[in-house]
Amino acid sequence: MSEEKPALLAMAPADLDQWLAAHDAPAYRRRQVLAWAARGAATFDEMRDVPRPLRAELEASFRLSSLQPIARSDADDGLTTKTLYELDGGHTVEAVVMRYSERSTLCISSQAGCPVGCPFCATGKFPFGRNLAAHEIEEQAVAAARLLAGEGRRLSHVVFMGMGEPFVNYEAVIESVRRMSDPERLGISPRRIVLSTSGVIPRIEQLSSEKLPVTLAVSLHAARDELRDVLVPINRKYPLQNLIAAAQGYAKTSGRRVSYEWVMLAGVNDTARDARELGVLLKGKLAHVNLIPFNPVDGTPYHAPSRDAIRQFRRQLIEGGLNVTVRDTRGREADAACGQLHERWARAGGLGERFGDPGGPDSGELTSSAASASGDA
Ligand code: SAH
Ligand code: SF4
Repeated sequence: MSEEKPALLAMAPADLDQWLAAHDAPAYRRRQVLAWAARGAATFDEMRDVPRPLRAELEASFRLSSLQPIARSDADDGLTTKTLYELDGGHTVEAVVMRYSERSTLCISSQAGCPVGCPFCATGKFPFGRNLAAHEIEEQAVAAARLLAGEGRRLSHVVFMGMGEPFVNYEAVIESVRRMSDPERLGISPRRIVLSTSGVIPRIEQLSSEKLPVTLAVSLHAARDELRDVLVPINRKYPLQNLIAAAQGYAKTSGRRVSYEWVMLAGVNDTARDARELGVLLKGKLAHVNLIPFNPVDGTPYHAPSRDAIRQFRRQLIEGGLNVTVRDTRGREADAACGQLHERWARAGGLGERFGDPGGPDSGELTSSAASASGDA
């Protein structure tokens, strides 16, 4: 892997300028070439306004992307596509494309693994791998845009809800958002980019000063510290009242409603008491609650609540004056919740089935042997 050519989007501007100068190309080629790579050109030959000899030299020196797709699974009658990528150095991450009638959304990863270690989350069960570089995050979106373009669709939304805690990898995440929203690149409005965090307060505060109008989602899951300390271990460092204050600070400076995520775990956080506490916590705030039915993860003690329990919880929140939606469980078939394709690959010994096999890894018959490796951040 280390012998690989560098990926174009990984190049520092000064280094690319130097390369261009060494190849007798004018400096303005940098923007051109990067725009092609960042908008999803599949080959160097697609770079129509770049002279043919320069295209060939570029191809000899660079890769268009550093990501190696190694598995793909389609679900929901082709509306959901999940791809597992190998990064340079060997870690893997996943990204999920979800097609709707009016939009196409990519669920993106910001880290290989996650150091937060929430006990219900497949990603948190693995030892933490590493942070992704900005270009590796961007490249997931570029690959999705290319896939969708082939279907006459446009990538319209990006949610940082794949693997990893974006605010533990803040600089690269913000850089990737700036790149994806650059009109010369994918041009996705920051408003259509959702940063989801387990609650890293200093970074939420920093985001307020970025003047980058992204949508902030906070993974709440519990409205009392005693329970949240268990479900989202980072809560021991950044407790609820401070978290809500920081998130509402962002709502105030950005004028944008914060989305509070609530993974529904039967008998754990779906009771009348939980609904009451959540109502008290968020009443009157510029907020929105998104209920996510738990996507079962083997080796965890949790279960998804019944439809009835979800309905009742939702009703109680609405009666308490909150804005509530229940997330579409799209992608459940494709294991679209955090880290699950990765988990099954790891369990199967990883490399048994290569990209291109019909249907990708057949997870159905794999048995659970994943050990819990969660830790505090
Ligand atoms: N680390 C960030 C972003 C990635 S997780 C965060 O926690 O916000 C994205 C969302 O998926 C979070 O709200 C997380 O709680 C949720 N999630 C994780 N595992 C899940 C599961 N098994 N079923 C449903 N949602 C899950
Ligand atoms: Fe990390 Fe988010 Fe999973 Fe928690 S839910 S372990 S923060 S990816």
